[in-house]
Amino acid sequence: MKIYGLLGALFLSIVVARGQSLSYEEVTDLEQVVPNRENSSWAQNQPYVIMISIDGFRHDYAEKYGADNILSIMKGGVSTRSLICSFPTKTFPNHYTLVTGLYPGNHGLVSNEFYSREKDYWYKIRDKKAVQDGSWYGGVPIWVLAEQQQMLSANLFWAGSEAPIRGMLSTYSYQYNSRISNAHRIRKLLGWLDLPEKQRPHMLLGYFSLVDDAGHRYGPDHEKTKDAVLEMDALVGELMRGVEQTGLPVNIVLVSDHGMSPINRGLVLPELVDLQDAEVAYSFPPMIYQPDTAKRDQLYGELLQVEGLKVYRQWEVPEYLHFKNEDRVGDLVLLTKAPTIILERPGVISGGTHGFNPFNTPDMGGIFCGSGPQLKSGVRLSPTENIHIYPLIAEILGLSISEPIDGDLRSLEFILKK
Ligand code: AMP
Ligand code: ZN
Ligand code: ZN
Repeated sequence: MKIYGLLGALFLSIVVARGQSLSYEEVTDLEQVVPNRENSSWAQNQPYVIMISIDGFRHDYAEKYGADNILSIMKGGVSTRSLICSFPTKTFPNHYTLVTGLYPGNHGLVSNEFYSREKDYWYKIRDKKAVQDGSWYGGVPIWVLAEQQQMLSANLFWAGSEAPIRGMLSTYSYQYNSRISNAHRIRKLLGWLDLPEKQRPHMLLGYFSLVDDAGHRYGPDHEKTKDAVLEMDALVGELMRGVEQTGLPVNIVLVSDHGMSPINRGLVLPELVDLQDAEVAYSFPPMIYQPDTAKRDQLYGELLQVEGLKVYRQWEVPEYLHFKNEDRVGDLVLLTKAPTIILERPGVISGGTHGFNPFNTPDMGGIFCGSGPQLKSGVRLSPTENIHIYPLIAEILGLSISEPIDGDLRSLEFILKK
């Protein structure tokens, strides 16, 4: 009996550790609500925006795989042929660019993993202490802008949403939890639209990682990536039907943070050069921190000799990448062209990745499309930079932008109905 009990407990803990998804009741219990907030009467009369991020959804996936619901948003509303993502084409820098209108060098999240000389601390997306500390985040994210102007927001996992930024969280938010199933995420977003007017958020943000997960594991051309795209498309269909039933003036906006490129070759950095005591942020593309100038110069010289690899000193990164941040960008920034990546140790290289130069790697292009009462129908745009999404969303919601940004409303204003 005893042994069976132990085995049972072991089995259960393995199931839990493997990440069994939560029930909807459990999901609801995890929601964080800031008390005593309500929409002003002005905000109650404004439209709604649901912005969904589909991590790693490449610009051509909807057509390539026949994602009918997403295609219907593209055809019935506005869309770009490709969304030009910011450098580096990684998840946190680009999510935060989408909601601040600032390049990563200017908002401060310069990669998924980086070092701040001023704080003498490493920001890593799995380090809750850093992720939940508002002092890492520059700019005014769209949900903070809304809350500052007495318009409620709700947030399901957008990068930055766990930290009080400018002292503010979204009225409704969650700590990142991959055990919250995709179906429950859609249900939760629709649930927020069911709240009474005063409590109902007007800016809703949601995040889905399944397409990026498949793209990394199998590569962008694999049947399993197609399956993930179609699964996401079905979720978008659920959302569209649910939104329609509310009868509210909701604009659905779909974006992604970057695309996906097949990879098949790796340069193992410690095998190429003597790193000595340099510290390396390996989140691709890597950055090297070496405060000792003599050692740094030697390393730079050695890296210049490596075929197929580009190395820039902090101040040499090409201007058009807008990658300037003296506190956080590495002393040396490395780059390769797809299908070659840079690794910490030897390993099997297959599937896909991102992080490459967005301006000379078409596979890094993401999506932007949207439909709803404030957006024109049937407008297809040439490739557009993702810094312009923030001023567009602010304009739809009637929010005034309080600080200088890199994006410009004039780039996208014409897709709005008068
Ligand atoms: P990347 O390495 O750039 O492909 O990052 C994608 C991964 O980031 C996803 O698979 C998630 O596991 C993770 N991720 C996305 N959003 C968050 C978040 N808000 N907090 C922690 N991890 C996240
Ligand atoms: Zn991503
Ligand atoms: Zn990824």
